[in-house]
Amino acid sequence: SPFTTARIRSDFLDFFRGKGHEIVPSAPLVPANDPTLLFTNSGMVQFKDVFLGAEKRANPRAADVQRCLRAGGKHNDLDSVGYTARHHTFFEMLGNWSFGDYFKKDAIAWAWELLTGVWQLPAERLLVTVYHTDDEAYALWHEMIGIPAERIVRIGDNKGAPYASDNFWQMADTGPCGPCTEIFYDHGPEHFGGPPGSPDEDGDRYIEIWNLVFMQFDKQPDGTLVPLPAPCVDTGMGLERLAAVLQHVHSNYEIDLFDALIREAAALTGTADLSNKSLRVIADHIRACSFLIVDGVLPSNEGRGYVLRRIIRRALRHGWMLGTREPFFHRLVGTLCTQMGDAYPELPARRELVERALLAEEERFAETLDAGMRIFDDVADRSGGTTIPGADAFRLYDTYGFPLDLTQDIARERGLTVDVAGFEVAMEKQRETARAAGKFGGGVQLPADLVARLQPTRFVGYDAQRAEGLSVLA
Ligand code: ATP
Ligand code: MG
Ligand code: MG
Ligand code: MG
Repeated sequence: SPFTTARIRSDFLDFFRGKGHEIVPSAPLVPANDPTLLFTNSGMVQFKDVFLGAEKRANPRAADVQRCLRAGGKHNDLDSVGYTARHHTFFEMLGNWSFGDYFKKDAIAWAWELLTGVWQLPAERLLVTVYHTDDEAYALWHEMIGIPAERIVRIGDNKGAPYASDNFWQMADTGPCGPCTEIFYDHGPEHFGGPPGSPDEDGDRYIEIWNLVFMQFDKQPDGTLVPLPAPCVDTGMGLERLAAVLQHVHSNYEIDLFDALIREAAALTGTADLSNKSLRVIADHIRACSFLIVDGVLPSNEGRGYVLRRIIRRALRHGWMLGTREPFFHRLVGTLCTQMGDAYPELPARRELVERALLAEEERFAETLDAGMRIFDDVADRSGGTTIPGADAFRLYDTYGFPLDLTQDIARERGLTVDVAGFEVAMEKQRETARAAGKFGGGVQLPADLVARLQPTRFVGYDAQRAEGLSVLA
């Protein structure tokens, strides 16, 4: 296909440059000045202060290709990876913005022009949603663009329903917010799933490709919506989903960018079937893990570092399932650099660091992965085919370095669940024991001034204890 991901990125930026937008580089995955947010999960994150009015930009129009991560935190797509055709942990979001400049009419007209004009997508395969009260957006799609009424779906808010469509966007409980309109592509009746707003909307026949948010209100603490003096536009389109459409494949994992990664993962693990789910998970996870390390995160037992560790260990477990017993994951970094190094020069620039950090984590987890998997099998056999007891999940966590979500992921594959409440109880009991025994048991005596400088005791498991011990004694 002529529509490589490289071409799509540049087509997108060229188009919006032609419409007077300033092209902005991707911000790192770790937000620069927002401690409340774990990771950059959409293109608007780096513009948050502009929307809040705390920062002014010379050009009120911007466009970019933003690397995003949706794992851990509020947006978490980790559990969808390997199960849907359209979700990654790490992905790239194409976005264009108006900071109090153009609004619904231009945003809709340009989105349509790019999709059906520049990229020649057949209009009859596209379907749009609008917020149920947004008659303005409805009229623009229907009258200005000419989309028939049966392909415009009005969607409300579905608060609390994790997968249900929700066409009202808000940055937080108060502040900038507004209705969205989303563009879907119909991959055809051979795929399972209904249109947005239907009970089967979570299938993968109709795939959401572009979300246009119209920030037009300032939500007050009492819930009233005060119109913003200068409404804004915030859009996001998944590069990989669009590439799937333009390359005439259904799954994101079949696009050019993933092809080399999946082949390399197959070669390293000796896997013949290129559509094997584990290969897809590994290909997804090497992107997330590499870019996290590029952006300054290292595996640890807390916060961002623990999300990274969890993703690495999930990937390693998939390699193990494919029969691999040697470190393999870090060996994918070279292929990733070939695929993405032109778009993100910071990746090849830190290649060695990424490889070393991943290899170290592979070697570390190799000490317990195999034994942990045997424990899991024993427990699963004894469980009577329903639930992994919390105490066993905790033992896997504490002694074998299996994060809870890893154990849950393995359980899910076998139709089992994990007793999470029981896990928490076991964890709390362990904390109390550790607290009562004091932090440094085992006869290790530390100088009083060093002890005084240490953080308050918080037992976070086997690895943390070891890591903290090392850093304290270093
Ligand atoms: P979905 O409903 O399919 O989970 P979303 O509504 O959560 O998508 P948005 O938050 O609207 O997604 O993000 C804007 C765009 O980014 C989406 O329209 C989609 O193209 C892309 N996108 C979102 N999440 C992912 C993901 N996990 N992997 C790949 N692309 C994604
Ligand atoms: Mg989503
Ligand atoms: Mg959606
Ligand atoms: Mg959306």
